[in-house]
Amino acid sequence: MGKSKQKVEKIAKIDWHASSTEEVLKQLDGNPDGLSEQESVSRLQKYGANSLPPPKTRGPLLRFFSQFHNLLIYVLIGAAVVTALLDHWIDTYVIIAVVFVNSIIGFVQEGKAEKSLEAIRHMLAPRATALRDGNRIGVPAEELVPGDIVILEPGDKVPADLRLLSAKGLQIQEAVLTGESVAVEKTTKPVEANADLGDRFSMAYSGTMVAAGHGKAIVVATGADTEIGRISGMISSIEELTTPLLKQIAIFSRWLTLAIILIAASVFAFGFYIQGTDPSEMFMTVVGLAVAAIPEGLPAILTVTLAIGVQRMASRNAIIRRLPAVETLGAVSIICSDKTGTLTRNEMTVKSIVTSSKLFEISGVGYEPSGDFFSGGEHVAIDKRPILQQVVKFGALCNDSSLRQKDDQWIADGDPMEGALLTVAMKAGFDPADLHRNNARGDVIPFDAQHRFMATLNHDHENHQYIIVKGAPERLIELCTLQRQKDGDTAINSGYWSGWIDEVASLGQRVLAIAYKPVEEGKTELNFSDLDDGLILLGLIGLIDPPREEAIQAVKECRAAGIRVKMITGDHAATARAIAAQLHLENHDEVMTGQDLSSIDDDALIEVAARVDVFARTSPEHKLRLVTAMQAGGNVIAMTGDGVNDAPALKRADVGIAMGRTGTEAAKEASEMVLADDNFASIARAVREGRTVYDNLKKAIIFLLPVNGGESMSIIVAVLTGLTLPITPLQVLWVNMVSSVALAMALAFEPSEPSVMQRPPRPKDEAMLSGFLLWRITFVSLLFFSGIYGIFLWSQLHGSTLEEARTYAVNTLVMLEVFYLLNVRYLSSSSLSFKHLFSSKAVLIAIFVVITLQAIFTYAPFMEHFFDTRPVDFIHGMEIVGIGLLLFIILELEKLIRRLFSNRRAKDLKAQPKAKR
Ligand code: ADP
Ligand code: MG
Repeated sequence: MGKSKQKVEKIAKIDWHASSTEEVLKQLDGNPDGLSEQESVSRLQKYGANSLPPPKTRGPLLRFFSQFHNLLIYVLIGAAVVTALLDHWIDTYVIIAVVFVNSIIGFVQEGKAEKSLEAIRHMLAPRATALRDGNRIGVPAEELVPGDIVILEPGDKVPADLRLLSAKGLQIQEAVLTGESVAVEKTTKPVEANADLGDRFSMAYSGTMVAAGHGKAIVVATGADTEIGRISGMISSIEELTTPLLKQIAIFSRWLTLAIILIAASVFAFGFYIQGTDPSEMFMTVVGLAVAAIPEGLPAILTVTLAIGVQRMASRNAIIRRLPAVETLGAVSIICSDKTGTLTRNEMTVKSIVTSSKLFEISGVGYEPSGDFFSGGEHVAIDKRPILQQVVKFGALCNDSSLRQKDDQWIADGDPMEGALLTVAMKAGFDPADLHRNNARGDVIPFDAQHRFMATLNHDHENHQYIIVKGAPERLIELCTLQRQKDGDTAINSGYWSGWIDEVASLGQRVLAIAYKPVEEGKTELNFSDLDDGLILLGLIGLIDPPREEAIQAVKECRAAGIRVKMITGDHAATARAIAAQLHLENHDEVMTGQDLSSIDDDALIEVAARVDVFARTSPEHKLRLVTAMQAGGNVIAMTGDGVNDAPALKRADVGIAMGRTGTEAAKEASEMVLADDNFASIARAVREGRTVYDNLKKAIIFLLPVNGGESMSIIVAVLTGLTLPITPLQVLWVNMVSSVALAMALAFEPSEPSVMQRPPRPKDEAMLSGFLLWRITFVSLLFFSGIYGIFLWSQLHGSTLEEARTYAVNTLVMLEVFYLLNVRYLSSSSLSFKHLFSSKAVLIAIFVVITLQAIFTYAPFMEHFFDTRPVDFIHGMEIVGIGLLLFIILELEKLIRRLFSNRRAKDLKAQPKAKR
């Protein structure tokens, strides 16, 4: 058996779209309440998983050989051939061996990088809502089988090919399949057998998106049998491991390579024609020059750095969907976040209830149903309070959540706010299950962030029918014409209710209103128009949802890092203000509501969006306007979202962030990053990682380029002046393709510098090779050049042979690299402390490996054979270490001076009064 291809059965295909729902159910042996768990397992075995064959990836052999697909490697292979023709076999062997070792390093690292991305793709596997044994449960889309019943809601990605069994206002966006960008209205009616895909209104196809409405459907085809499965060859693409910056650098190094080869050719011509050097010697010199000058390890190291960053973010609950986001995260200057669940805990408790007569307070914490009702400090007997009873009862009925007990803990499944309504109903002595049994639901208008309420149609055993509405209180006051009093219903007193809404909300409580309306018997369908008149307001419910402790910390960290945090919520202005104050948002006094926003034009919005940090009672389209306005103000925006309506704003933001738990597939698809734990603190950590990745890319570049710079200077100077080469071409090959790569690889693992979150965000159009980097690269190149030539000339003056002097020069170069690595780990802060010198395991391992290799290179007899090396004696060894140390001291001094200057500048800036804009 093993993992060999299993033969899977196929379902007999009929024209699902043209058949009636009864026929389809019969054909698939299905049931409107869903399959049993057992049946689904056996069908999964029979028909196979609901997944497409994975996109073709490069096999290991191809990946290994692709390491050789590189201009420099071609040059080297050419050189190996030429040296072989010239009978310089040693050179041939060394070139081939070094090319091989280098390719193996690249192969292994690239493999690791690909694997970590693969793991992340797995974390993003889509889920679906199915009915199994009559229960509504979330399942991995992969486990769906033909005959399963699937629930469709706005923002869902259709998980398989489905025949609709019921549909209410269901609209599906089928662009992936048909190219039609307008959502299609779906129904359950069969269509013509020969209808085109786009006209099969009774079907929902895998991979399309639910834009609006609700539906229930039966799975008719899964995996490769789906319509999208048949064309999957066209859509499954491999994401490249790259970002704009990396692309830029790849292009840069390709041009550099070309330029260097041209320079090498002219150096060859110069040496051969003008100085009359022996052509075969000259040839090896220019090969050495090419190797010395081309930063061949750079692209590989940058790729690995990026992959490690992505992996680190994933382990901190930030899953990157689009790689360029890693880079953008480091430049984020504003984070716009939802409130509920992201900044707050989303563990709600009902604390107050207001009726037309007074305010009641409720004791107890969390979802545990123990607590009592109080009024003015006095205990209240709930059975003497019919209106209060009605409020809690209807709150439990207009509700899709459930509570359960697990190890003495009460847990809410579904919307936490609705869970809290169940808890308070139980505190009042109701049993939610009984309530639902005795007040069956006929129809529902689900909650939506746009209209901000939910309504249900219920009837009791005596067939009394009524509508319950719960939702944002201002909305309900608008809808209600009456209010319930002890002695009958009277016209609504809006002023009374608005006063209480403000009062309760200013305590930071989320306010909800409950209303109801009796309707005539026999009604089966609930429409918006049914809410138009005669709604009776019963009361208000206030719930607490405390801010997350770690969100408060993260906001503080963001402020220190020059990142403005803004809260955009659908909640009430006073609630939002109270929570914003607890979170210490910079400007938590001023609150803009969605209504305020609608009344100002786009130009004015730019200024407002910059100043205000709290936006309340907003709907999703406000988010889009806000992002656009903030971007116009020159900011880089990260923005969270969960609903299908958030997709445009998520797409527009520089880094769109979808909620992993509560987010819809539509939101995830539109975003760059997914938050596995829906927690604001994870965004702040992702920004920190983003800045770290960018720093590490920078460090890898300024580590590698001066090595190339120093070496090429040495060779060019030698050729131009007709002096002997201080390092032979083969030795250069060794240093660049073995020592440098091994050392630089350690930089990919660098942890964040302590100061990453204490400096302002990087300007988004900042060039990476800015003044400072260019200066560093040039300065260090010169130091490297001086070190190499210094010891080479000095030791020869004091009686060393050419071979000995070259061995010293190579070892000095590597020692310089080791010390430079320690220095470059901290771009601006000092490297001179025990912690900074020894904190990174990767760096210590790399140094140990390189020094061991260097010892073999210097002392092993076979290395003498290949590289013409000589043993280094103690005195010269000390000199070599001394030169390394000297470089370290010089560079630390340079950092110190820079720090002093930038401190002075900062102080000068502070002394000036801040100009008001
Ligand atoms: P947030 O930005 O805090 O997540 P939402 O858009 O989810 O805000 O909710 C906005 C308002 O809609 C809430 O303040 C509440 O009054 C109302 N509301 C939220 N969820 C529900 C629900 N399940 N049923 C009825 N009303 C709701
Ligand atoms: Mg919400």
